[in-house]
Amino acid sequence: MKDLQDIQQMLEERLQFLSTKVDEIEGDLREPADPDFAEQATEAEADEVLEGLESSALLEISQINAALSRIEAGTYGECATCGEPVGEKRLEILPHAAQCISCASK
Ligand SMILES: [Zn+2]
Repeated sequence: MKDLQDIQQMLEERLQFLSTKVDEIEGDLREPADPDFAEQATEAEADEVLEGLESSALLEISQINAALSRIEAGTYGECATCGEPVGEKRLEILPHAAQCISCASK
């Protein structure tokens, strides 16, 4: 497995990136509505897209925070459900994975 410190650093960078993104989205969402009605409709649609992006970013943030506390607790890389190793390949693709592939696909 890769050095845990590297993984931790990577997760923290990703966390930083996501927080910045959420801040930007929040800023966009708070922009005052355009007085033009047609523009308002377009903005409402764009806001929905932004809200979708925000909730997926927030979800990933909470998953990353959970992964960081697993690193602290020394349980990183163990499946949260069955306790088996999550697997190096899977963690490479999804460093914040909390479950092994077979538990995650249930
Ligand atoms: Zn499992």
